[in-house]
Amino acid sequence: MAPILGCIADDFTGATDLANMLVRGGMRTVQLIGVPDENAPVPDADAIVVALKSRTNPVAEAVTQSRAALQWLRDAGCRQFFFKYCSTFDSTDEGNIGPVTDALMADLGTDFTVACPAFPETGRTIFKGHLFVGDQLLSDSPMRNHPLTPMTDSNLVSVLQRQTKKPVKLIQFATIEDGPEAISAEIQALKASGGGIAVIDAVLNKHLFSIDYALSDLTLITGGSGIAIGLAENYRRQGLLGEMGGADAIPAISGHAAVLAGSCSVATLGQIERFKAEHPSIGIDPLRLADGEDVVGEVLDWARSRIAAGPILVYASQPADTVREIQDRLGRAEAGALIEEALAAIAKGLVAAGTRRLVIAGGETSGAVVSALGVSGLRIGAQIDPGVPATVTIGNEPIALALKSGNFGGLDFFAKALAAMP
Ligand code: ADP
Repeated sequence: MAPILGCIADDFTGATDLANMLVRGGMRTVQLIGVPDENAPVPDADAIVVALKSRTNPVAEAVTQSRAALQWLRDAGCRQFFFKYCSTFDSTDEGNIGPVTDALMADLGTDFTVACPAFPETGRTIFKGHLFVGDQLLSDSPMRNHPLTPMTDSNLVSVLQRQTKKPVKLIQFATIEDGPEAISAEIQALKASGGGIAVIDAVLNKHLFSIDYALSDLTLITGGSGIAIGLAENYRRQGLLGEMGGADAIPAISGHAAVLAGSCSVATLGQIERFKAEHPSIGIDPLRLADGEDVVGEVLDWARSRIAAGPILVYASQPADTVREIQDRLGRAEAGALIEEALAAIAKGLVAAGTRRLVIAGGETSGAVVSALGVSGLRIGAQIDPGVPATVTIGNEPIALALKSGNFGGLDFFAKALAAMP
């Protein structure tokens, strides 16, 4: 059976977040890393999420990548499409949310879609078109100082209108409160009056379900992972998807286990301390890496003699003041790249030595490891902690992976993740 829903996500961890939501709804989901080759096999899944890295790319590049992903998903037989961006609508006045949406609408031959980044569970709500982050307007939240996509206007209708020539409308809270029929009627009216893109108010989870009910006929939906919450139910009602249960099944993978940490977030530092108390662990010194010493070889020798006895931990993570000192000596980007490269090489060496279960802490670190291991896609399993599912790579010689960005996960995350990947 062909997949039902084809998704294009503008970054890696956002893609996982969406995939996690779809699995929660009961859809068997595979996340693909980048646009697959034309002849790549279509995974057996109800939903496919193509993870791009296009959020802050130049507009033309983001559009080209997104269109290529759409074409692949159409060829794979998907019948509804989803463009996923951040729940804080991360973008600049140049794009990329507006231009990518325009291009996808043109390719799909549709003149109407919605834009709904609301995710009440994580504090992202929309009222009168204004996006709130917790109790603050987006423009008062820390997002106003984001280094790449500063968000200084909370009014999503205005923000999006600056990125597209299509009319941007608002489906108001009162209509959402009136329920699915009222929302459908409003969508019909907007379509009849020339179409465009409608921002949708949503304050509570129940609003997302009402909205989703009314989106079952749309070719393209755009938004955060929150608005995907009720899509599975639509497909079930349409007879496209079976009953709930089993969507999070991933094969059990046996082999050695290791944790690799490159995140220096407070959460990760705590998780390292907790795990270190009970398992062999080794730190990487970035200054020795910079001096060209064979740190990778040393770590692998150390690991090979221990890993058969149980999980090990390799970490580069340090508290903020140590990181600053290292960055002052080596440069911020240089230090980051050097460490990512070393952790990726260690991951490769560990896999060559029979490791099949890996927990990776750090968004960029995860990206580096996944690319070094040549992973083309992940089957998404059950959630370990909010937003972080257990996964297994697709293709030959599968590896179980838990990829955790920044501040995610509780103190015992590493042990919990390994237990979830038996
Ligand atoms: P997070 O998800 O917490 O942002 P990332 O992996 O995305 O984690 O980013 C952490 C960055 O910090 C990586 O580039 C990593 O290589 C770098 N890094 C890790 N340890 C150190 C350290 N001791 N000194 C300097 N940079 C470090």
